[in-house]
Amino acid sequence: MARPNGGERYVVSACLAGARSRFDGTSKRSARVERLVRDGEAIPVCPEQLGGLPTPRPAAEIAGGGGAAVLADRARVLTANGSDLTANFLRGAEEAAALAELFGATSAILKSRSPSCGCGAVYDGSFKDRVVDGDGVLTALLRRKGLKVMTEEEFEKIG
Ligand code: SF4
Repeated sequence: MARPNGGERYVVSACLAGARSRFDGTSKRSARVERLVRDGEAIPVCPEQLGGLPTPRPAAEIAGGGGAAVLADRARVLTANGSDLTANFLRGAEEAAALAELFGATSAILKSRSPSCGCGAVYDGSFKDRVVDGDGVLTALLRRKGLKVMTEEEFEKIG
């Protein structure tokens, strides 16, 4: 939905807006993303917290594909010790997508390589810093709903 002034509305990863929501209790603050929120052009969400996971929490990766495969029940989100967090990730993605829709977001700026927010590349489930093509679970859901999605790294390159 375009705003009356023609501006775009965004949903953004909460950790990019300064929330210490990451698995290790840190943020990945981006001054440009914070400005979008301050100006009322973006809503911050953390799908993993919305899915009921604590902070800090164990790191998790998608095993067997990307977010689209998780949505299709063909891949799981696991911690290094094998705990299955797939249900939390699915619930959090649905909650975050609902808030994005309520806000009227048509684009998303999401934290790169996260199993929820990754866009185009995610860790491969080996917990060895290896990356494969694919999206996080929220990213896959937002794409399915027709939103344009970019990483914070891509956003920083836009004039
Ligand atoms: S789930 Fe997304 S918003 Fe939440 S901490 Fe991870 S990358 Fe940031």
